[in-house]
Amino acid sequence: MSSDSDLLNNALNYAGMGWRVVPIHSPLRGVCSCRKPNCKRAGKHPRIRQWTVSQIRITT
Ligand SMILES: [Zn+2]
Repeated sequence: MSSDSDLLNNALNYAGMGWRVVPIHSPLRGVCSCRKPNCKRAGKHPRIRQWTVSQIRITT
C-alpha cells in the first residue's frame, strides 16, 4: 500500500526525526520531470541544485 499521501507522511516523519528530505525528480513516460530530454539520471536526481548545501526545514 503506497500512495502520494503515504509518501508525504513518510517525508514528514523523516523530517520530524531530523532527516533531510530532498525532493527528487521522477520519470514520466520515459522522460525525467526535469524536462531535459537527454537527462541521464531520469527520476534519480534531486530537484534542487546544490541540494547538499541547502537544507529543507519544516517548522511545526
Ligand atoms: Zn532529470
